[in-house]
Amino acid sequence: MDKFIYLDNAATTKTSASVVEAMLPYFTEYYGNASGIYSIGVKSREAVNESRRIIAATIGARPEEIYFTAGGTESDNWALKAAAEMAGIPPPGDDSRRTEGFKVSKPGDPGINVKNESHRKNHIITTKIEHHAILHTCEYLEKRGIQVTYLNVDENGIVKLEELKKAIRPETFLISVMFANNEIGTLQPIREIGEIAQEHGILFHTDAVQAYGQLPIDVEEMHVDLMSASAHKLNGPKGVGFLYIRRNLRLGSFIHGGAQERRRRAGTENVPGIVGFGQAAKEACESMIQRAEQERVLRDYLIDRILREIPYTRLNGHREKRLPNNANFSFQFIEGETLLIMLDMEGICGSSGSACTTGSLDPSHVLLAIGLPDDLAHGSLRLTLSAETTREEIDITVDTIKRIVERLRSMSPQYEDFCRRQ
Ligand code: PLP
Repeated sequence: MDKFIYLDNAATTKTSASVVEAMLPYFTEYYGNASGIYSIGVKSREAVNESRRIIAATIGARPEEIYFTAGGTESDNWALKAAAEMAGIPPPGDDSRRTEGFKVSKPGDPGINVKNESHRKNHIITTKIEHHAILHTCEYLEKRGIQVTYLNVDENGIVKLEELKKAIRPETFLISVMFANNEIGTLQPIREIGEIAQEHGILFHTDAVQAYGQLPIDVEEMHVDLMSASAHKLNGPKGVGFLYIRRNLRLGSFIHGGAQERRRRAGTENVPGIVGFGQAAKEACESMIQRAEQERVLRDYLIDRILREIPYTRLNGHREKRLPNNANFSFQFIEGETLLIMLDMEGICGSSGSACTTGSLDPSHVLLAIGLPDDLAHGSLRLTLSAETTREEIDITVDTIKRIVERLRSMSPQYEDFCRRQ
């Protein structure tokens, strides 16, 4: 492939050479089933458990609290659906209690509000800016009788803690708030949310798919009960993730079948993937501080140049409280999709909205939630850096965006109209 500039690391990252190297023997030599009793099976099992140990250590958890999944989407689905079941939602097919709300928890169920046993637990609190893996799961649960509060966020995309507190009901069994937003990079006050959840005896799940490997996370200090992560966001392979489940939490299975993952997540282990995830997690966490600083410097340079050199442009998301590698802009009088296509023709990969919604013409729900009008939400561009991004690449990108934006505006009747009225 010709040389290109890759600035879509929030969508996915390049699997690093050392990760591929760590994975290879588990395809070709130690391909035994991790449940096998023969030596290549044992070797696989040991490798899976070593990855579990590595990953647990990176978030202050115990190895037995880490469950491997097929990625962030599965982890999010598992956390929400199994928490709802734990709270008493009837399994699919059983409609008898659908409209009644659900009696929950026996006293002593950890994480569940046992102070209000007379209340049926049927309420989740989340935010309007979650990834679709959370939002669509919530929609599914609503159809099954669960009530969901979607919290507003402020103009930077940050949850208001007072609003969160007000949304809590005796029936609330789960708060699910993402650690860092995938579109605008905004970071949430996770520790404070964890404290509020703990005070009220409510389970706290965070979707840390964008944050894990980028920012320090300690599930104990942050009072997190459930946490989702995915390997392909940190130079690991695609199709492997984990769900952290606080010990003693009696969360049921999501995938049923064999006895893998201590009977909680069935299916033959993706041994090469899990090994790759362990290696990627180790490298990401070891290099985190230095890498974040390097990315932050380049990101700020990118933001400063774009805002200074291209008029009628805004930065979406908080100026400082954002992922070190994320920049998200709205260009007035520009269609984000057109800008993306023209950037692609110049060998620059970015994204408008999240990659998962690219292809649909709906404006991003995240940009609408921070109060952007439709036209600005349509004119957005997300650029996400990696440790390999160079200053030269940023310069080329800014110069190219400048040129394309000028060209597109020169063809825009709205822009012409706007200039005439100035
Ligand atoms: N949650 C967030 C915040 C994400 O950014 C993504 C992917 O972009 C997901 C969940 C889904 O993760 P996966 O692609 O591993 O299924």
